[in-house]
Parts: sequence; structure tokens; C-alpha cells
Amino acid sequence: MSTTTEKTDWDELADRVLTGETPDEKTLHSILDCPDEEILSLLHASYRIRNHHFGNQVQLYYLKNAKSGLCPEDCGYCSQSKISEAPIEKYVWLNEEKIFAGAKQAAENQAKTYCIVASGRGPTNREVEHVAGVVKRIKSELGLHICCCLGLLKPDQAKILADAGVDRINHNLNTSREYYETICTTHTYQDRLDTLQVAADAGMELCSGVIVGMGETDADLVGVACELKSLNVKSIPINFLTSIEGTPLEDVSQLTPQRCLKALCLFRFMHPATEIRIAGGREVHLRSLQALGLYPANSIFISDYLTTVGQETHEDFKMIEDLGFEIVLQGAESGDSSDSPNAALSC
Ligand code: SF4
Repeated sequence: MSTTTEKTDWDELADRVLTGETPDEKTLHSILDCPDEEILSLLHASYRIRNHHFGNQVQLYYLKNAKSGLCPEDCGYCSQSKISEAPIEKYVWLNEEKIFAGAKQAAENQAKTYCIVASGRGPTNREVEHVAGVVKRIKSELGLHICCCLGLLKPDQAKILADAGVDRINHNLNTSREYYETICTTHTYQDRLDTLQVAADAGMELCSGVIVGMGETDADLVGVACELKSLNVKSIPINFLTSIEGTPLEDVSQLTPQRCLKALCLFRFMHPATEIRIAGGREVHLRSLQALGLYPANSIFISDYLTTVGQETHEDFKMIEDLGFEIVLQGAESGDSSDSPNAALSC
């Protein structure tokens, strides 16, 4: 579509994406190479795509870390890993009342989706039954959309979750296939792909995203954006690495607010009708440019992330109001996925 040495006409690129064209890798690289002085033009073009599919709607997500720390895996970005020395709160599975209380909190905060997240390689069958029980209660009493992020899943576990009413499974690819073993050695990229397949086979929607800023190259970011295209994902959370002291990536720092905005635009151009959520690291890395992120993205987490604190909810509401955007309320359909096949720092 273009070369990195040519000046790209972002509006013309948006026109082509809106007529169904998928950008090639060179074009995706040119988005990441966009000169900072062109960033408003890039955002405007991304917004046209976002607006076409989602209007000015913003989807709110609220998450509960139902089990924290104590994880035998070695994901380098994660404060909950066995190799992390970060001083986080660690606890085993929350009981039904506490997980349900989180769902009520989500509903009170106008979140349409409640994400139940647990640390660990994957759940035991007993843990899956525990989640299934709470989800049945949440669905019958509150009717929230439910997404679960529980690690690697087996087919029978996925079926139990689907039967209980879980709408969606989150399992992030995080980065490219090539870079994956640099950030994790205890499970493979293929393990992650297999869990996504198992969830899809059980009839649940897929949510899978990335962590930007882990030392990856542009090619890694472009690679994972393309990989996600083939997976039929409904939702893509874009995390920005918050380097947590005590984790192997504590000294990695490659993000600027502009880099974060370009990454969001990259995913919007590549996934025009897919929900794109600004996830962990929003406040830390976008800082005063947070609101601009909602021109390419159409979703955010409210309140806290897994082990880091988010902006106050009333500030998020104010930001959305100031933009002139509107929150998608529970029960309302968001967006137009007609041409789409369709965790805060992830598990
Ligand atoms: S990301 Fe998930 S699997 Fe990896 S160390 Fe953290 S809790 Fe464990």
C-alpha cells in the first residue's frame, strides 16, 4: 500500500480500510514510523474508522483479580510470577461473595463487562467449578457480560465455563511468536494459541491482546497485530508495560505517549471493526494524552488493574464526557461488527 520512505496520506489509507482493504506489513510499519508532527492526522484517520464502526461509544470494563500472585510461570512482565520480587498482595481464590461483590461494583460503575481474572498457569477443575457457580449467579442477578482470564484451559473446562454463561475468554498473545520465548519460558506461544482455540471451540468469544513496550521491535508489534487478525478475536486489549520493580523487565522503558498512540492506531487500522481497549499502563504512559487514545480505541478499563492502581472512576467519566463520547450501557449493543469476523496486564 505504501513504503516507509513515502509520506502516507492517512485519510486515504482510512478510506481504503473502510472499503475493506487490509493494510500490508509495510503500511503497518509506516504507522509506527509516523512523524510525531503528523500524529493528529493519523489520529483523525483512525477516528474515522472507529467512528464508522462504533460511533462515539465507549465500552467500560471492570476487572477483579480473583487470585493474586503465587504463579509458577515466569512471564517477565508480571508481578505475580514466581520469579517476581515485587511486593504485591498475594491471595488464593476469593470466595463467591467477594467475586460477586466485584460484579456489583462493575454494574454500579456502568461497566458492561466484568472480567474475572486469576493468576496461575491454568485453573484446576475445582477452580473452574467455583468460577462457573459465581458466573451463573452474576448472570441471573446482574446480567453482566462476563469475560474470564484463567490461564491455559482444557476443552472440558472451557465447556463448563461456556455452559455457565461465560461470554468471553481473555488470553493475551502479548507479543510476537518470535519474541515470546524472550519473555516467558514456562509455556509457549502455541500453548496460548491452543487455549484460544479451545475457548472458540466451546462457543465463547475471544479476547486477546498485547503488551507494548517489553523491548520488542516494530516487527514484533506488526507481527502480533497480523497474528490476531487470523484468530477472529472480538476484543483486543492493548497494555503498555508498567515496569514493576522486582520483575525482570523492571528497567525496560521504551514508551512515550506518542508511541502508545501510534500503537493504538496500528491496531485500529488492522482491526477496523474489532473492539480495541486501552488497558494497563494507560495513565502511566499516555499521561495527559489519555483522551486522545479514545480516538482510535473504543474501550477502557475503569478502576484498578491487576496489581497496579488506575485513575479514579469519576476522572474517566469526566474524560469521556469532555470528549463528547458516550458510555455503552448494559444491555445495549455496541458497534457494528458487520465486516468483522469476529486483562490489564495480562495473564
Ligand atoms: S501472566 Fe499469568 S501465567 Fe504469567 S506469571 Fe503472571 S499470572 Fe502467571
